[in-house]
Amino acid sequence: MDNSIYALLGISEKVCALGEKVLSGLWERFLQIDEIAAFNQAKVLHAMQKNRVSAECLSGTPGYGHDDKGRDTLEKVYADVFHTEAALVRPALTCGTHALATALSAILLPGDELLSPVGKPYDTLEEVIGIRKSPCSLAEYGVSYRQVDLLPDGGFDYDNIAKAINEKTKLVTIQRSKGYQMRPSFSVGSIGELIAFVKNIKPEVTVMVDNCYGEFTEKLEPSDVGADMVVGSLIKNPGGGLAPIGGYIAGKQKCIDRCHYRLTAPGIGQDVGASLSVMVNLYQGFFLSPNVTAGALKGAIFAANLYESLGFRCVPDANESRHDIIQSIELGSRERMEAFCLGIQSAAPIDSFVTPVPYPIPGYSDEVIMAAGAFVQGSSIELSADGPIKEPYAIYFQGGLTWHHAKIGILMSLQKLYERGLISL
Ligand SMILES: *Cc1c(COP(=O)(O)O)cnc(C)c1O
Repeated sequence: MDNSIYALLGISEKVCALGEKVLSGLWERFLQIDEIAAFNQAKVLHAMQKNRVSAECLSGTPGYGHDDKGRDTLEKVYADVFHTEAALVRPALTCGTHALATALSAILLPGDELLSPVGKPYDTLEEVIGIRKSPCSLAEYGVSYRQVDLLPDGGFDYDNIAKAINEKTKLVTIQRSKGYQMRPSFSVGSIGELIAFVKNIKPEVTVMVDNCYGEFTEKLEPSDVGADMVVGSLIKNPGGGLAPIGGYIAGKQKCIDRCHYRLTAPGIGQDVGASLSVMVNLYQGFFLSPNVTAGALKGAIFAANLYESLGFRCVPDANESRHDIIQSIELGSRERMEAFCLGIQSAAPIDSFVTPVPYPIPGYSDEVIMAAGAFVQGSSIELSADGPIKEPYAIYFQGGLTWHHAKIGILMSLQKLYERGLISL
């Protein structure tokens, strides 16, 4: 392609040339991603048509939000896309953690036990569960927690999972994406095998999948393979970059009813909850999401292939199949993490002039560096990168509202590493 426009952004010939070389080997894979996006686009469109989404649905309500047709219809659209009986999709779910906490505390009662058969859950859930002490944690309400770590090769430790399931086990939580760990993300197929194993031992157990970052990366979702609830954030994949806030829980009617009661109040449930003025963004974002997710996936694959060609370890590696949009790259030093993040930041449409620096965050033992210049604050379906400043100095890269923007961000990260003499080309 004509690289002169990239020169305008500050990306050198050398970096462009390497990018184009790496890219020339990726078109076949990009076609496969487009095929998944085409499938999921049709799935979303069909759900919208089936539920007769109308102009009226986009207008929203104030106050209690009684008879909010847009909100109720959007929940039916989500339920149809995830092939579940019901869904809760609300701006009142303030983030992914809130959606997960709502789902967990809707089901788990005092004396019940929560089991994670896939190792440590996402950092913010440690306080929700009470692994790290916190007011209002599940532990404080008398819910116990058990965890079975993954095997050294990243597989499920079936023997110990079987031993961990007991008469108190009420809910099993499975995190699809690796989050900020160097373990593999799970395919929907392997999640299905794990669910079948667990339900074979205890059929009445509720299985929840933390679906964050996984939506629309495959043709199937965990709810297609036996999950009773799938949960995620609207400022990640399913919001398509347009949702300004929100979370979703899709699943069995009896689970979703309890989640509604937990979110609003017992006895009130789903009839209350004004959608204000965000409905159009939630619908339009969901509609765009398969394509936005595909762009982010292409960016992740491009990054892995580019950085692996320079000798850096990438998880997933250059050739692995993808089950979420996260790419981690072991950069090996603080200086490289800073340069990488500067590149991502410099490629942003918003705050491109800012220099990301590592800083301490409450609850983390190490300093963290983050790069993001997003239209929606903290939105990680938009181009972003972050990571804790510690061995192996891995950066976690994700998003990009378009593939073309993700590509610029990745080239820019390499440009900054190159300019600072932290790699040789
Ligand atoms: C992002 C994420 C969460 C939490 O979502 P927030 O919106 O940051 O609260 C939970 N689990 C996983 C796997 C995530 O990626």
